[in-house]
Amino acid sequence: MMRIPFIAGNWKMNTTAAEAEKLVHDMLDRLDRIEEVEKVLCPPFISLVTIRELLKGSSIKLGAQNMWFETKGAYTGEISPLMLRESCEFVILGHSERRRYFGETDEIINKKIKAALENKLKPILCVGERLEENEAGRTEEVIGRQLNQDLNQVKPTHNIVIAYEPIWAIGTGKAASGEQAAATIKFIRDILAELWNKGIAQDLRILYGGSVTSHNIAEFISQPEIDGALVGGSSLEAEEFLSIVNQTAEIKGD
Ligand code: PEP
Repeated sequence: MMRIPFIAGNWKMNTTAAEAEKLVHDMLDRLDRIEEVEKVLCPPFISLVTIRELLKGSSIKLGAQNMWFETKGAYTGEISPLMLRESCEFVILGHSERRRYFGETDEIINKKIKAALENKLKPILCVGERLEENEAGRTEEVIGRQLNQDLNQVKPTHNIVIAYEPIWAIGTGKAASGEQAAATIKFIRDILAELWNKGIAQDLRILYGGSVTSHNIAEFISQPEIDGALVGGSSLEAEEFLSIVNQTAEIKGD
């Protein structure tokens, strides 16, 4: 199975509803025409329904940035997979900002992954090591543990995308090198082969995330192991995001 390149924009807690609509308007037609890449926008919850309508009939898909693992009930302030399913195909889970600021453990992330898949949502599972872990040479140990726990008792599936996001590279302007990222992504693929099987590990898209811009995307995407990117800050500017997707289409299309 050929791995279709994949670029997702994580808008995080940015854009009012009006700003979100404008951002979509500014790139909709041009983004829609880029056929060789699977494109996903992950705006704040409050804009999902409006953006779903704007994207109707286009090739651009919608993702949420988080969800709770129960389908309904007394969980004030939370959003369930059932609610997301009406608008979204994807959901980002295990993002380091959720792990760090909101105390999400691998056990919680594991429950969320299972709930997403049971409710026909495709998780974009983020894993990554902290700076001190990287410097101590513990990257593989940390990522191996995260994958084993986050995917514990999850049946092999094609409906998941993995994002390798070294925490020290997120929002810092200090990206990993293409070679570094490719080596860790190869390691992730090996873990998936052990955990599930070689076939699925070869088929699944594994992205790099962390300070990706139009200036460095080529370095990542030209690595055969890297199937795309999860883009934070640079997904908030239409021209920047379009350039990232266009370069991905050109390089992976060669
Ligand atoms: C992210 O939010 O997943 C991310 C990688 O952010 P940034 O591109 O801003 O580093």
